[in-house]
Amino acid sequence: MDARKNGLMYRWSLKQCLSYFGYIVYGIFYNLIVVKKTHEDYQILNVIVFNFLFCLSVTSHLVTSLINPGDPLLYIKNNNRQADSIYLHCTICNKEINLFSRHCVTCNKCIYKYDHHCYWVNNCIGSRNYKPFFVLIISSTLMCAILVSSSFTAMFLIFSTKTSFDANDEQGLTSFIIFLGLNSLISFFYFGYITTFHLVMVFKDISTYEYICKKRAKSNSHVVPRLVVDKEFISVHTENTGISFGISFGI
Ligand SMILES: [Zn+2]
Ligand SMILES: [Zn+2]
Repeated sequence: MDARKNGLMYRWSLKQCLSYFGYIVYGIFYNLIVVKKTHEDYQILNVIVFNFLFCLSVTSHLVTSLINPGDPLLYIKNNNRQADSIYLHCTICNKEINLFSRHCVTCNKCIYKYDHHCYWVNNCIGSRNYKPFFVLIISSTLMCAILVSSSFTAMFLIFSTKTSFDANDEQGLTSFIIFLGLNSLISFFYFGYITTFHLVMVFKDISTYEYICKKRAKSNSHVVPRLVVDKEFISVHTENTGISFGISFGI
């Protein structure tokens, strides 16, 4: 299998398709349905902020997908490397890579400063696309917060006036608002959790991968690979990590 350069290349993941579908549904749901059911004084600023966050979320989603997080050494010739630097060799890519790169079996390439593989953007998250990924999760959380508050406001107004239940088509619309309001609440908690987790990771200055490795080491069910760098050689102690590294070590 050839290595994919970005998340928009073949083949798309199910979660990636779901995220595109979610953007379409939430965008239409908010602008064409929820806004009409909320109070006019409430709308203008709310609509501007929601659509700004919506565009920011969609754009950062696409940028995170499109950036190639691969190790730069995969794309340059060997004689361009610095002579005094230490490299690892990936047996799958069959190339020398930077010390802190890791091979992703899904992307089929080594990722520079690997964080995790995200199926929502169908791409690995590494140091090259971490910033747009961070913008994506924060803007999505705030966007869902507005969606939740607006849809619950709309529900409150519908139930308090009760005029909407007079017509059958309005009953269907009310059910739709309740259904997507609850969906946006679940999305809010999901993105809120992811954002909080990554804020903690940024604060601690560690990657998701390092966090998982440390957690596994603490549980004693797995042993984390320990990289020992010496002046003359690199040795790596790897036991059962549950992850295929595909890297042979040596300089
Ligand atoms: Zn590799
Ligand atoms: Zn990957």
